[in-house]
Parts: sequence; structure tokens; C-alpha cells
Amino acid sequence: MEIENIVANTVYIKARESGGQKKGKSKKWKNYLQFPHYTECLHLKPEVDDEDLYEFIVEKQPIGKLLFHEYCQATNSQYHQCCQFLSKVEEYETSDDDGQSRRDLASAIVALLQSKPEDNPSGSQDVQEFWCSSFMTEEVISTCISTADSATHDDEPRSDIFAEPYRLTREYLMKRPIEQFMESMYYNRYLQWKWLERRPVDKHTFRLYRVLGKGGFGEVCACQVRASGKMYALKKLEKKRVKKRHAETLSLNEKQILQRINSPFVVSLAYAYETKDALCLVLTLMNGGDLKFHLYNLMPGGFDEKRVQFYAAEITLGLQHLHLERILYRDLKPENILLDDFGHVRISDLGLAVEIKDNDPIKGRVGTVGYMAPEIVKNERYSYGVDWWGVGCLIYEMIEGKAPFRQRKEKVKREEVERRVREDQEKYSEKFSEAARTLCRGLLHKEPGFRLGCRRVGKPEEGAEEIRAHPFFNTADTATGREPVPWKKMEAGKVSPPFCPDPRAVYAKDVLDIEQFSTVKGVRLDATDTQFYGKFNTGCVSIPWQSEMIETECFAELNTFYDEDGNVVWNLRPDGINFDERRN
Ligand code: ADP
Ligand code: MG
Ligand code: MG
Repeated sequence: MEIENIVANTVYIKARESGGQKKGKSKKWKNYLQFPHYTECLHLKPEVDDEDLYEFIVEKQPIGKLLFHEYCQATNSQYHQCCQFLSKVEEYETSDDDGQSRRDLASAIVALLQSKPEDNPSGSQDVQEFWCSSFMTEEVISTCISTADSATHDDEPRSDIFAEPYRLTREYLMKRPIEQFMESMYYNRYLQWKWLERRPVDKHTFRLYRVLGKGGFGEVCACQVRASGKMYALKKLEKKRVKKRHAETLSLNEKQILQRINSPFVVSLAYAYETKDALCLVLTLMNGGDLKFHLYNLMPGGFDEKRVQFYAAEITLGLQHLHLERILYRDLKPENILLDDFGHVRISDLGLAVEIKDNDPIKGRVGTVGYMAPEIVKNERYSYGVDWWGVGCLIYEMIEGKAPFRQRKEKVKREEVERRVREDQEKYSEKFSEAARTLCRGLLHKEPGFRLGCRRVGKPEEGAEEIRAHPFFNTADTATGREPVPWKKMEAGKVSPPFCPDPRAVYAKDVLDIEQFSTVKGVRLDATDTQFYGKFNTGCVSIPWQSEMIETECFAELNTFYDEDGNVVWNLRPDGINFDERRN
């Protein structure tokens, strides 16, 4: 290995190991995150209807949720108990399949329903009055308690047990409590965070590390936010290259779709900004390499079925999320599925994704040869089904160790591959179990109308349910060691991956082996370009940025105040002191 590569890797691995902790942060990190006086933030009050405020602030924004819960905890034990109840129910619904811990959780929730808030301010209120008088009936509580007692809790958690009290409690918090929160200093603090979130982002926000890969319009490298220490991948789209290939709409499309999507199974966009020469997308860093690399360099001959089932399930969840957002992905193949530090996978590269409007099928021969569905190859109109075909190709390839319609490195014309896609029946070796074969057969049906995932008349975006219900995901098989997928837990990202990448390894080509770009000639940037860059350059994306602040403990540290001796004097408690005065 060349010395240059060793140095680049060492620096990168070191940054990765420190990522998110104190040592990853710049020494002056607090300078990047200074709150303005709250009166300067009042213009950031959300422009949504009153009835949507709770959903917008508490349910969609991680920092909003924490501040609302802190407010409740500090000021009103009833509100606090309501928050605890909701959190516990959410935890129950994604809890471990181990029946005992789930049973314990259910009992804790029942206990909560049977207890009155500690140190109840109104004193006289008893349990019945607390839960029932304002927003719940005694009947709801007793039905819920008796169902919880008799339920087994052994298989999937039952989402219906606490559904009714959950709904009522949530509705209760959406009225007075959220209004009161918005009159409190916690809300001012929320607005201060929103102010920080809206600040412009530029190249000084990040430290850059080694190149990880090469894209069509520029390099992808690792980067780290100076303020928080969090690591990301930075995908550059060189302005001149984009212009030369008339790819403005395409690039903006990728950015806008990415920023709408918030799924643990699709790469997230955390920042979008520009430099003099490039448009930059800051994405979830996926350290573990792509599936193509794992399949052909590390596991030639295919993965075992447990591993295939795990990846297929996470990819199905990622696609389900995209489809429910009316997004068609169109580029499934092993190299677009990336692994993170733990071995979870995400769909990446949304360059070909499009939005489906009013369920109207679309046209366009795009994708990668050998992975495009027959209807695309035939240049017909198509819809979500092409992604399920892609999943079929992917599962086939992961099991067989080769793609269904093309040998690896086979010298074959595009026309021949496309003929096979249209006409040939793919062959199944003994590597496929019965369930795996029927799954692939169903997904690789030439006719989209008969394909697995496409048979929900009227609700084409809900096809994932059909795939999730297939025996491959829901039956045990002693021969392959396959177990049913615990879907709820999987959706919460709590299933341990079957394979964990080596934390000391760099799953990318050597820096010198990644081809350099040539310079773009004959392109000049002008005023119309600047207008387009303005649409691209939108800075932080709310949810990922707020999660970053929480995860890296910037949030916790900045909500705490110290005296000269380093003792905590005030931790956002309602002691009557206005925090703005306190800061100065
Ligand atoms: P393009 O759309 O131009 O093809 P990609 O999004 O596919 O660009 O990125 C190019 C390469 O950069 C990928 O093949 C991969 O090696 C690397 N890469 C892209 N995104 C990430 C990421 N989030 N984490 C780590 N590496 C990435
Ligand atoms: Mg790509
Ligand atoms: Mg792309």
C-alpha cells in the first residue's frame, strides 16, 4: 500500500473513532453554537395551524420533543405522566421479542395507568380523576388493563392493546399543554435552536478527510462537522460538470427528494451548501462498503440465507418508505446498497429517483443494464413495480453470487441482456431454499400486473406489505437457520445485523486507485446558474441536524449552565430565572 494511502486512512480512522465524542469537536465548538437573544428568533415561529403544532414541534422535531418533555417534567406532573405513558407505549411497540421484557414493559405501562402523578399539584385528585376526568373514561382504562393482562406478549408486540389510551393522551397533550409550552422559556429555547439551524452553511463548517468514491459529477469524501464532531459523507457535484451535462434539474431533484426522506434505511441528507466550484450534499456516512464489494470481494459464491433475508428486509423497508412518499427509486443494484459501522444497510444514490404524481405511470428508459425491469426495457409506462423487480434481482444475486441475467464480467451486448430480461426464465440452483425461490420468482415476474408487490389494486404504493408477508420473511427454516423477521423491531433498527464490518478497516478503494477527474473546459458560469445554486444551497436539514445536536451531546451541554467553579447552577429548571439574563 502506498504511503499516501496509509496516511489518508490513518487520519480518517482516527477521526471516525473520535466522531461525536468530545475529542471530535473543535476546541472552540461553542463559538459555532451561540444562541442569540430569544427576541431575535421570534420570526422563526412555525407557520402551521394550531392543531398541527404538536405534530410539527413534538413529533417531527427531535429537539422540539426533548424540550417539550423537559417542560412537562419540570412544570406539571400530570403532563409529565402523559409523556411517560406515550414514550413507554412507543417503546413497547418496538420492544424485544423476548416475551419477558415485553411483559415487564406492559406491566409498567399498566402501573402508570393505575397510578396518580407523584407530588400531584392539585393534591386531592385521585387516580380515577386524573386519567378519567379530563380525557379518558374508566372503561377505556379497565379494558386496556384487562387486555394487557391476558395478552401473551410473546410474538410480535400487539399494537392494539394501548392504542385507545395512547390516542386520547396524545390528543390531550395537543391542546392546553402544547399551548402552555409555547408560552414558556422552553419554547424560546426551541426557537433559539431553530435560529442556529437556519444559519448559512459553508466549507468552514466541515473538516475534510479522504476520498471514499467517485461519482458522476465529483468525488465523495468523508467529512466531520467542526461544531459537533459528527462524521458524514460529502458528495460533490462540480458546478461546471453539472452545467456541461445539463444536469441542473437532475441534481436539484436528487437534493429535494433526499431532504424529504427520513428513513433509517435510506441515506439521509443533513446539509446542502455550495462552494465556489461545487454543490455539496452532506449524507449519512456509510463506512462499511457497498454490497457489491462484500458480495464479490469478500463472499464470492453468495451470502447465506440469514444474511440475505436481513438485507432484503431492510431494503424492503427503505423502498416502502420511498413508495409511501410517492418516490420511485429506479436504481437498485448491489453497489447502491451501503453498509454502516454496525452492518445495517441503506439505499443510496437517489440520482434516478422520481416522484409519481396521482398514481400516473411514467416513462423513461433509465436504470442499469441487467437490473432494469422488462417494462422499462420495452419502453412502456411503468410504476412502483420496477423497484420490486429490482429487489428480485438483488435477492437473486445475493444468494447465487451472480446476477440473474448477466454473468459477472461477461462480455455481452446490451441487446442480448435485454432480450434475456424480456424472454428468458432465470435459473435457480440448489443454493435457493423453497421460500427464496418462490420469492424471487414472484418478484421477477415479467408481467408487472402479476408481480409480487404490484397486486394491490388502487393502492400501488402499498405493495411492500405483500412482500413483507412472504414466507421467506416469516417462516423458520432449520436447513438455512432462517427465522421469522421481527418487523416492528426491524423498523426500529433494533435487529442486530448478521455481519459487522471491521471498525479498523476502510472499505473503499485506495486513494490513489480512485480515478482523478479531468478539468471541464469550455463552460462559463453566469447569473442563471447563480439562481439555481440558490435553490440548492439551503443549509441544514431539520431532523438530521437536530439529531446530530442531540447525539453528539451538544444539545445537553448547551442547556446546562455552570458557575465559575464548574458546578451546574441551572439545568433549564423553572426557577424563575430568565435564561437570557443568566447567560449574559
Ligand atoms: P453518483 O450519483 O454520481 O454515481 P454516488 O452517490 O453513487 O454518486 O456516489 C459515488 C460513490 O461514492 C459510491 O459508489 C460510493 O463509493 C461513495 N459513496 C457515496 N455515498 C456514500 C456514503 N453515504 N458513504 C460512504 N460512501 C459513499
Ligand atoms: Mg452511483
Ligand atoms: Mg447518481
